[in-house]
Amino acid sequence: MDKCVVVVTEWEQGELTLASLECVEEGREVADRLGAQVQVILCGNEITPLAATLAAHGADRITLVEHDALAQFSADGWLQALAPVLLQAHPVLLLAPDSGPIRAWLPRLAVRWRLPLVGCCTRIGIVGDGYPEVIRHTYGGACQERLIWPYATLVCAMLTPGGRGVGTPRHGRIAEVTVVRPKLDPTGFRDRTLRTLPADPRTVPLHEAERIVSGGFGTGGSDGMALVKQLAEQIGAALGGTRVAADRGWLAVERFIGSTGQIVAPKLYMAFGVSGAGQHLSGITGSETVIAVNNDRTAPILKRADLGVVGDLHQILPILLRKLQALTAARDADHGKPNAPTDSSVTHRTLEMTP
Ligand SMILES: Cc1cc2nc3c(=O)[nH]c(=O)nc-3n(C[C@H](O)[C@H](O)[C@H](O)COP(=O)(O)OP(=O)(O)OC[C@H]3O[C@@H](n4cnc5c(N)ncnc54)[C@H](O)[C@@H]3O)c2cc1C
Repeated sequence: MDKCVVVVTEWEQGELTLASLECVEEGREVADRLGAQVQVILCGNEITPLAATLAAHGADRITLVEHDALAQFSADGWLQALAPVLLQAHPVLLLAPDSGPIRAWLPRLAVRWRLPLVGCCTRIGIVGDGYPEVIRHTYGGACQERLIWPYATLVCAMLTPGGRGVGTPRHGRIAEVTVVRPKLDPTGFRDRTLRTLPADPRTVPLHEAERIVSGGFGTGGSDGMALVKQLAEQIGAALGGTRVAADRGWLAVERFIGSTGQIVAPKLYMAFGVSGAGQHLSGITGSETVIAVNNDRTAPILKRADLGVVGDLHQILPILLRKLQALTAARDADHGKPNAPTDSSVTHRTLEMTP
């Protein structure tokens, strides 16, 4: 039987999650080094249209596990449906996103089959004669842990979302697709999804946020950070920041971003008074569009930014807030709908702002 790396993927609202695609790409890299195949498993109902995307990101074989009862997530359902498929796949490594749903069923399988399982992983390496080496940060990021199990037949690793970002798909790449229709007993599921609530940007875990507004040491303190927070609320974004801002107590410690904090991959990342140290930038590699405001035109964040504004955040933020408030008021007066952002492909520009 061919050596194989199994990647368990997930969807949300009919789309594959970015974390899943990151896992497929990580699985592809590991499999290439092992001379193995990548088998991707996806559970749900009417999920066949997602197979082409999985192939484009590196799957060799795709197993779609379909059943009416899998249209909504259930940890019991996923476990019942996936255990036989995984048993048959016989992988050397099982990769999955480190997400709430995966955490609800994979540890139970690992305990049942006595498998090593590691969460919060950043990368998978290969050592010796082809042992998967699981890498993750520990002690608040001060240390890197490298774990191998020379005697384990299968290692399970959950990758932190946003850690590597998603590469360019190779459209037209071919994979072998198998649809499995398991016999399930939904009456035996002890948990089921009743409804999915829209995420509140103020409380959503940062790695799931679509928009993030961040403040750094340049905000100058709680008052500056309050302006940043106001902007986040105004545009429905989550509040983030740098480690320095969190160390100073201007930001909750679980909201600082970077190699030792949260790894994020929003569609929009706005940074105010953030210099762009390597440890911070490595936490935002998966961000689609980065906008940075900094009064130092040589700040590294401006090189990473798609739109860089050189100026004082204490002058720019109040103007921005006033303009947004005026827009909202005009929109409310018109009873119109919010204007959707029209241009997501902002090119690299640096603007000078003079007082
Ligand atoms: C082991 C280790 C791990 C670390 N992990 C992380 C991590 O995970 N995340 C993280 O963020 N950091 C981390 N750090 C810290 C990191 O090295 C930087 O020190 C930190 O990111 C800098 O934060 P900052 O950008 O807020 O502050 P600074 O580097 O001090 O930058 C402030 C910026 O604000 C600008 N500024 C000042 N006033 C204004 C103004 N009025 N208007 C506009 N701009 C202004 C300045 O020009 C400057 O560029 C780590 C450090 C170590 C040693």
